[in-house]
Order: sequence, then C-alpha cells, then structure tokens
Amino acid sequence: MHKEIEDILKRAKREIEKAKDSKTLDALRVKFLGRKGEITLAFKKLSSLSEEERPQIGRLLNKAKKEIDSLLKEKGKSFSPSERSLYKDGLGWLKGVVDPSLPGRRKIIGKLHPITKVMGEICSVFQSMGFSIAQGPEVEEDFYNFEALNIPPNHPARDMQDTFYIDDKILLRTHTSPIQIRTMKAQKPPIRIIAPGKVYRCDSDVTHTPMFHQVEGLMVDKNVSFSQLKGTLTQFVHKIFDAQTKVRFRPSYFPFTEPSAEVDIQCVNCRGKGCRVCSYTGWLEVLGAGMVHPAVFRNVGYDPEEVTGFAFGLGVERIAMLKYSIDDIRLFYDNDIRFLDQF
Ligand SMILES: [Zn+2]
Repeated sequence: MHKEIEDILKRAKREIEKAKDSKTLDALRVKFLGRKGEITLAFKKLSSLSEEERPQIGRLLNKAKKEIDSLLKEKGKSFSPSERSLYKDGLGWLKGVVDPSLPGRRKIIGKLHPITKVMGEICSVFQSMGFSIAQGPEVEEDFYNFEALNIPPNHPARDMQDTFYIDDKILLRTHTSPIQIRTMKAQKPPIRIIAPGKVYRCDSDVTHTPMFHQVEGLMVDKNVSFSQLKGTLTQFVHKIFDAQTKVRFRPSYFPFTEPSAEVDIQCVNCRGKGCRVCSYTGWLEVLGAGMVHPAVFRNVGYDPEEVTGFAFGLGVERIAMLKYSIDDIRLFYDNDIRFLDQF
C-alpha cells in the first residue's frame, strides 16, 4: 500500500507539472481526487486492512490528497487570470472557441498622407494671414496655363517634353497659376487667395514625379509692395519650419512676375553650416515669388497703373521632404504602408 500511494503521488506530480491549461488541470483533479479518482479508490481499500495498518495508511493517504490538491491549486495560479475567471464564471465551454489569452486585434486606424498633412499646414498658415482658398480645373486651357501668364509660344515650358497635352489647346495644368487668372477674371481687387492643388509635368526622378502638389498665392490691391511679399513669406517660413530659420531672397526670372525672386531658407539639416542636403551651400531653395507682371494684369482686364500685386508658389512635396528628411520623392506615391505609417 505504501508503494501504491507513493506511485500515485509521483504520477500526479509529474502530470500536474506537465499540464498546459486549466482544462487539463480539471481532468487531473477528476482523475486523482474525483469521486472515482485514484486517491478516493485507495481510501476505499482502507477497510480491508488490518487495524494496525489502517491509521498509518489513512494518514499517508490524507497527506497525499492534500499535496495533490495544493499542487493543482498552485499550478492553476500560473495560468492567465482571464482564463481562470472564465472557468470560475462557468464559461469554460468558450475554451477552444475563444482563446482569452491571445492579445486583441487592434483596429487599424487610417492616417492622413504626409502630403495631405503638409498641404493642410501650409494652407492654414496662409489662412491665418487672411488668404482664402481658390480652386480650378486640373485639365486646363492653354490660355489660362500659358498665354494669360505671359508665357510666350516659344517658351521652353510649352515643350511637349515638359507638358502633358490633351490636344493643341487643352493640357494638364503645369502649375496652379491658372487659378490666379481665373480668379482675377471673375472678381475685382482686392484679392488675397492661395491656390492649392495637383499639377502635372513630364518628369520623373528622385526629386520629381509626373504629378505633384503646389500651393500658389496671389495678393492684388492698391499699393501692394515687395516688402509685404517678403514679410508674408518670411512669416510663412517661420511658421512651417521655425522662427530661427533664416530666409533670403535672390533675384530671378519668371515670365509672369517682375521683379522676380527665388526664396531660399537656411538649410534645415545643417543650420547653414553646409551638408549633402544643401550641396554644401547652407541654403535650400523653397519658393518662387515676385510682383505680378503688368502684362498679366492687362490680360485679365486690370489696370496696372491702378493696382499692384504679388504672387508666389511652392512645391508641397519639397516642403514635406525637408520637414521629414525624406530624400526620394517617389516614396510618397509608392503607398508602402510601413512608410506612410510613420507620419
Ligand atoms: Zn545643409
């Protein structure tokens, strides 16, 4: 009998040790301590023993029973609390149907595309300065895209190499400037608008895509000056990057503005010391701007003797690349969720 009890205890220990879930543990409790369990059956044999043996074996059996019981309880604690409470609540049948120990599935929450985000930021900076948003068609007439903007027929921008033509007179707009023409033809000064949107050019490399986004701005009124242009754009750069970012205006040429300027900001990567991003110049070109050309005013029926105005334009991808230190523009349109998820 001694041997038998020892044997039961040994097996119980081994099997409880190996148990991997509460279900197995419940089965082991039935197997050893249940109504027809091994320990219970061993108790029944007590009556057939001699009077000297009985108390001794009885004590041994009680000890084994207690030990198995505490082993089962101890092992039960190691399983997850959710699983234990599931059994306590009588929901054990859920086991196999639902595994409450698995981590939940997180809902994938959509995010704004980095370009949409930067576009929104740019628009809200100008809106805070009193500019309203104007929109226009992406499939545009030659007149609004080129002619009215003082871009002569022999200008290289009109080349098939640069522009997507639908037919002789219809094309995909190469900038959002036609919106400025449409706005000026539709309303009288004062005008203070920005024109955000998609534009199209035959171009594709690490800094160019056939479709990209621009935000252009236009302000027309009596006595609008170049210093107002400088103030507006400096304020814009300080809000989009930070207030320490230096800004410089370089003389340049655009057919639709006179005088014209390219606007550089101090390199956001090296703070002007010179690095690969800024080609070791310390400066990055981010905007084109200038005073509206009198010929453009005449094309829309304004009197250039009476009103003046400034216009500017920037590439949204360019700003986003600088803001987030992205060196390949094509990443924006690969739609790789691992890339987009970072913003
Ligand atoms: Zn730099």
